Amino acid sequence: MSFAPPAIHSFLPPHRTLMGPGPSDVPARILQAMARPTIGHLDPAFTDMMEQIKSLLRYAFQTGNKLTFPVSGPGSVGMETCFVNLVEPGDTVVVCINGVFGGRMLENVKRCGGIPIVVEDAWGAPVDPSKVEAAFDAHPEAKILAFVHAETSTGAQTDAAALGEIAHRYGALTIMDCVTSLGGTPVLIDQWGIDAAYSGSQKCLSCTPGLSPVTFSDRALDKVTHRTSPVQSWFMDLNLVLGYWSGDGKRTYHHTAPINPLYGLHEALVMLTEEGLERAWERHRTQHLALKAGLEAMGMTYVVDEAARLPQLNSVYIPHGVDDAAARSRLLNEFNLEIGAGLGALAGKIWRIGLMGYGARPENVAYCLKAIATVVDA
Ligand SMILES: *Cc1c(COP(=O)(O)O)cnc(C)c1O
Repeated sequence: MSFAPPAIHSFLPPHRTLMGPGPSDVPARILQAMARPTIGHLDPAFTDMMEQIKSLLRYAFQTGNKLTFPVSGPGSVGMETCFVNLVEPGDTVVVCINGVFGGRMLENVKRCGGIPIVVEDAWGAPVDPSKVEAAFDAHPEAKILAFVHAETSTGAQTDAAALGEIAHRYGALTIMDCVTSLGGTPVLIDQWGIDAAYSGSQKCLSCTPGLSPVTFSDRALDKVTHRTSPVQSWFMDLNLVLGYWSGDGKRTYHHTAPINPLYGLHEALVMLTEEGLERAWERHRTQHLALKAGLEAMGMTYVVDEAARLPQLNSVYIPHGVDDAAARSRLLNEFNLEIGAGLGALAGKIWRIGLMGYGARPENVAYCLKAIATVVDA
């Protein structure tokens, strides 16, 4: 043998407190669920659980959409699943950009052969509905509106109900990113008239990363089944995935579902039903107000105006004279606390403090405030 085994042993991760833009802290109950025995992905016991996950997700998304399931992949795969299925070459798509994730939507539109009409807003501001209205007015041929509900790069929340209403008035479908909002602030798919939405398991649902809940309206599904060109991605083609995730008739093999991570998502969603959506939203808001009071008492100010501020993603300006990288490395090394850095134009200027899911608790707020007070008071 020419390759000797490397002297590597089991990996034992440090115990961190995760208060960045995701992943969020995963409660032991969810990790324990994931440690249960692996069974076959076509085992009737497993397919029964898949049906339960679909029902639980319909509750989380507040939708009656039949086509609601977790894509096997991170939020980015949920994003691509929406775009590759709904955007056909030559389709005009109004894309709203007010941060990093809107920029990724634009990239998806281009790669699908769509014609993007970009509506830009400042980083830290929500999407302006009047600009979206003007874009549809100038491009009545637009078939889709794509926007990010909760921009994790800045902490701004956009008025999804207003955008959904505009798109429908112009006969367009809507694609909404709700990776950071699902479970943290209201996501009302049917009430807002959203046709396709994707989220992630590791933000306000407090599960491990790697699964992306998605939901599609009948209008969206109709567009997918009547495409004139095949979906360019085999893995994400809903026409094929449906044979596996659909409850109708017998299930056919498409890919091997990530069995144990799905146990985790199931448990996370059961926990959400036990708490209730309204109470989960209220808990995120209450903990946000407590964190805000403490940060402002230290003289820090928020990037986003109060009206558009996300409770689960607190973007604040780094105090003058504090070294960003040095302070965050002290938080990690001395306090085992992870917070997020700024992205793009906001790099080095802001911190992004997450209060997502299980992390939105008084203990976390108190610990975070104590740790930050220590590192900014050098
Ligand atoms: C985290 C995030 C994503 C991407 O999710 P991944 O699981 O990292 O692929 C997409 N959109 C938003 C708004 C996010 O916060």
